[in-house]
Amino acid sequence: MTLLVQKYGGTSVGSPERIQNVAERIVRTRRGGADLVVVVSAMGDATDDLIDLARQVSTRSHPREMDMLLTAGERISMALVAMAVNDRGQEAVSFTGSQSGIVTDASHTQAKILEVKADRIREELKRGRVVIVAGFQGVSKDREVTTLGRGGSDTTAVALAAALEASECEIYTDVDGVYTADPRIVEGARKLTRLSYDEMLELASLGANVLHNRSVDIARRFQVPIHVRSSFNWNEGSRVARGSTMEQVVIRGIAHDKDVAKVALVGVPDRPGVASEIFQSIGGQGVNVRMIVQASGQDGKNDVTFTVGSHDVNHVLPVLEEVRKKIGARAFLYDPDVAMLSVVGEGLATSPGTAGRVFQALAQAGVNIDLISTSSITITCVVRQADAERAVRSLHEALELEREP
Ligand code: ADP
Ligand code: ASP
Ligand code: MG
Repeated sequence: MTLLVQKYGGTSVGSPERIQNVAERIVRTRRGGADLVVVVSAMGDATDDLIDLARQVSTRSHPREMDMLLTAGERISMALVAMAVNDRGQEAVSFTGSQSGIVTDASHTQAKILEVKADRIREELKRGRVVIVAGFQGVSKDREVTTLGRGGSDTTAVALAAALEASECEIYTDVDGVYTADPRIVEGARKLTRLSYDEMLELASLGANVLHNRSVDIARRFQVPIHVRSSFNWNEGSRVARGSTMEQVVIRGIAHDKDVAKVALVGVPDRPGVASEIFQSIGGQGVNVRMIVQASGQDGKNDVTFTVGSHDVNHVLPVLEEVRKKIGARAFLYDPDVAMLSVVGEGLATSPGTAGRVFQALAQAGVNIDLISTSSITITCVVRQADAERAVRSLHEALELEREP
């Protein structure tokens, strides 16, 4: 018997009518003969609303209580979806992350999945039931409730698909696939029928939040095929699977991320061990550093510039002043009004001249590039935040991504 994992995002379960629609689809899939595990997100903006509530009650950080609070969002939708499915004559049972056996580490609000003990899910599947799982949550070894970070329901779904050896993980969202750029920003964005895990991982990590980047990492390691599609139609979506496509494509898409800030340490002494001191201290705060550029300045001193997620800035700034003093750097600068813009494609490494085309397109659009970094499958630029969306549109046009390669 085939086993499928489906995940429905916040918009897809955003109202009673939409929950009915999801229940319809679940029943239809189950009647088609597949065993089915369904992961759901909180309804619509429920998670944002809960965060807002917490801020009205306290200005301090309470990671444990925050997880208690946020897991409630997914608990609501899982129960409602299970009710709607049962009403259609198909047995369904809802489970929290903990009941589903999703064991995580203890880092509240950003927990990592350690293992999935899916025995209970397997038992229910054997009884012919559809299992509805609350996304984005788990339980630590010392039985604390945890969450996986914003957008983490995708990761729940792929982790379950890996653990249960599902034939596929379907991610139902509010767009009908992964596009060459965010279709809400670029009108002419084209739907990609197939992407490699590496390309999707880069796109997701660099701002295309249609998939949580950690879900793609798990999918790649356990070879779980992902199908990203819309819950509002039956169109074929985008398949993320192993290997490159047959067609030779240089550029797959453009991602951008406005939730970043730039930090620079200037006048950093040029001696061994300095970079390690800087980034060990920042890493010690659990902060993910995104892009690092070191440039040699005057008098044998360097400037070390990097970007971090906007939400991490509060953890970085106090540490940075300490580090600055310790290593004897002249000053540190901080700029929250930047964005990262990335061109991603497996063919970049073998296509000389693409970097030139990217920079030319930005120049023609009058967009100033602050920092540049490249890897074998990415070219990333830091630009002014106000320029970001215009830059994505110009690049998309100049690189002719609207056209089928
Ligand atoms: P869900 O609630 O279903 O998890 P998300 O809001 O997390 O949905 O992800 C879907 C959104 O991702 C889309 O509405 C779209 O605006 C955005 N997005 C960003 N980049 C892309 C891209 N390259 N392709 C498709 N969608 C993208
Ligand atoms: N509800 C959570 C969020 O809004 C998790 C998710 O939707 O994936 O981030
Ligand atoms: Mg999402």
